[in-house]
Amino acid sequence: MAYKKILVAVDLGETSAGVIDKAHKLALGQGAQIHVLHAVEPLSITYGGDIPMDFSSIQDEIYEQARDQLSRLCAAKAIPESQRHLVVGRPENEIAATASDLNADLIVVGSHARFGLALLLGSTADGVLHHAKCDVLAVRVAEPD
Ligand code: AMP
Repeated sequence: MAYKKILVAVDLGETSAGVIDKAHKLALGQGAQIHVLHAVEPLSITYGGDIPMDFSSIQDEIYEQARDQLSRLCAAKAIPESQRHLVVGRPENEIAATASDLNADLIVVGSHARFGLALLLGSTADGVLHHAKCDVLAVRVAEPD
C-alpha cells in the first residue's frame, strides 16, 4: 500500500531540514503529495496568563518569522505554497487536526533521543500519536553538535 498524502510537521529548529528531507524522499518513493506544517504556539498558552502583558505584537513578529523560515525550508524542496500550512495552536492538536482536514494518510514528525527529565515530560511525537487517526512516522534526525 502506498501513501497518497504525507503531512510533515516541523518545529523550525535545526533538525527541520533533515525531517523534511526524509519525508520528501519518502513522498517521492511513494508517489505521494507532501504537505508541511508548523504550529506557532500562542504565548498566552506558554505563559498561562501568568504575565499581565499584551503579547500581540510579539506574537505577530514570531508568526512572520515562522512564515519566512517555513517558506525557505519548503522552497528548497520546491513544495508549493498551497502545500505549506502555518497555524496557531498546540502542535500535537494542530498536526492531528490538519492531517484530518487534508485527509493525509501519514504524518511524519522528528524524534530525538531524550534523557532525564525530558523522558518523563513526553514529546510532541507522543502527543501526535495519541491524537492522530492515521499512521505516524517518527524519524530520527541527527542534531548538530
Ligand atoms: P518535540 O517533541 O517538541 O521535541 O518535537 C518532536 C517533533 O514534533 C518535531 O521534530 C516536529 O516534527 C514536531 N513538532 C514539535 N513542535 C512543533 C511545532 N510547533 N509545529 C509543528 N511540528 C512540531
